[in-house]
Amino acid sequence: MQDAPGVGLAAPQIGVGLRVFSYHVDDEVGHLINPSLDLSAEEQDGDEGCLSFPGLAYPCKRSLHAVAMGFNEFGDPIVVEGSDLLARCVQHETDHLNGVLFIDRLDSDQRKLAMRAVRESEWSGQLTRVKISPHATSGLAL
Ligand SMILES: [Zn+2]
Repeated sequence: MQDAPGVGLAAPQIGVGLRVFSYHVDDEVGHLINPSLDLSAEEQDGDEGCLSFPGLAYPCKRSLHAVAMGFNEFGDPIVVEGSDLLARCVQHETDHLNGVLFIDRLDSDQRKLAMRAVRESEWSGQLTRVKISPHATSGLAL
């Protein structure tokens, strides 16, 4: 995430099947595990991109303000609250944890443009190697 550079990265983006993401927006840096969101009805407009879609950005509506509740990397309960880019980041990354991509949230015209750009990108069709999660299941079924 830091090298990309990006403001957020969710575990599923790097092949780890855990509900956790990292964020770095302005001076706010951290990890949020198993987040739940409380979103404002007031919305924001603006371009949004994703480290999983290098070089692409499209206008995407999001709530202007978000309160994200979850746990930090030490297992302590935390609340990450913010507006604008921080709110956009926690919504985008929580979507990743729920199997939703930002292109799923675009209006139909923008989504068509995005899908065309994906098909025409140099990285389209490249194989992605997914690592098996190193976390033991301790005999529990998944
Ligand atoms: Zn993303």
